[in-house]
Amino acid sequence: MDPRSQFRILVVEDEPVIRELVRSMLDDGPVVVETAGSGAEGLRRALESRFDLILLDVVLPGMDGLTVCRMLKAEPATAAVPLYMLTAKTRRSDLEAALAAGANGYIHKPFRGAELMELVERLRSAEG
Ligand code: CA
Repeated sequence: MDPRSQFRILVVEDEPVIRELVRSMLDDGPVVVETAGSGAEGLRRALESRFDLILLDVVLPGMDGLTVCRMLKAEPATAAVPLYMLTAKTRRSDLEAALAAGANGYIHKPFRGAELMELVERLRSAEG
């Protein structure tokens, strides 16, 4: 398949079960899911290839998600890539911290497949 017609998603999450859950929910045909198990790996992968969406866990060992988010949003090559934080936190201050770090939005854990699919469909139709 022509890589330009693919919708590529990078999932940065330290819990393998959640990485595989997202993959099983979204990876299908033109939607390709790649994964990274740490903030440092996520940062590296995001900088070395093109993604249409980054799903980034907040609580990661080592470099946390908010730091990774700030770095990606400061980098011209990745600043425009839609980035949604995956967060179990629901306090207003935590959500504001995600937006202040430059995130385009957030997905609450536990999330439903339909929620993720809706986000992907919305971004794919916006890309046109
Ligand atoms: Ca985590």
